[in-house]
Amino acid sequence: MKPVRAKKKLGQHFLTDLTIARRIAETLDFQKYSNIIEIGPGMGVLTQFLVSETQSLNLVEIDSESVAYLKNTYDENQVNLIEGDFLKLDFKKTFGEEPFAIIGNFPYNISTQIVFKTLENRDQIPFFSGMFQKEVAERICEPPGSKKYGILSVLTQLFYKTELLFHVPPQVFKPPPKVDSAVIRLVRKTDFHLDCDEVLLFQLVKLSFQQRRKTLRNCLKTLNIPKMLTEDSIFDLRPEKLSGKDFVQLAKQIGHGNISN
Ligand code: SAH
Repeated sequence: MKPVRAKKKLGQHFLTDLTIARRIAETLDFQKYSNIIEIGPGMGVLTQFLVSETQSLNLVEIDSESVAYLKNTYDENQVNLIEGDFLKLDFKKTFGEEPFAIIGNFPYNISTQIVFKTLENRDQIPFFSGMFQKEVAERICEPPGSKKYGILSVLTQLFYKTELLFHVPPQVFKPPPKVDSAVIRLVRKTDFHLDCDEVLLFQLVKLSFQQRRKTLRNCLKTLNIPKMLTEDSIFDLRPEKLSGKDFVQLAKQIGHGNISN
């Protein structure tokens, strides 16, 4: 079968290095996680190292040309091929309450949206690993205080233990992307439930990092938090110094009733 023609708008950069594909597959503990989703399998370079390891492999691919290619390679009892947009996939409808692990050499044009969807559905996703552009991989894994620490770091690290495993150069893709890549692994923490208002927490984190060099007191001014609360010394800090737990503490202190928007 003819190889798939790479389409830029779908973020298609096909991996050509089999050693790297195998190393990505090896980030996943197949004994522990038996139900797996691969996002954006393309022509299946990673899929071949997953299919032999699990009974339940779901492939989510938006590109009909890639889907046709995969149908030609695997038959229905080997993989569950879902043609569609991962970002629109209704997990409960497709998988019920069943938990699943996510893996992939992901489409970089929707990297952060993939991570946010994972965080929103963390109750069903104990494990996530795969390849992103290096910059996004670093942002997810950096600790508080670092320059690259931001919204993605705070929110991901609240629920997952994050690791940046190894870097990958552009030359091993066809066509090569303009950026370097890196492989990360996220393992869900035992306690991944929040004891604060999630909407408020996400709002506080996003608003704070719009002005990462200012103090929280300044960053959150538009919320009109009562002065009595903002006198606390935590408001003297810059958002980049706060861990996810600190933001949870902040959300608890503020509470939904105390802000005006
Ligand atoms: N994993 C393959 C392909 C990587 S390129 C490899 O390593 O070679 C990214 C893949 O994601 C492409 O196949 C592209 O069609 C697919 N893709 C892009 N947007 C998607 C989306 N919203 N949902 C599912 N797949 C998507």
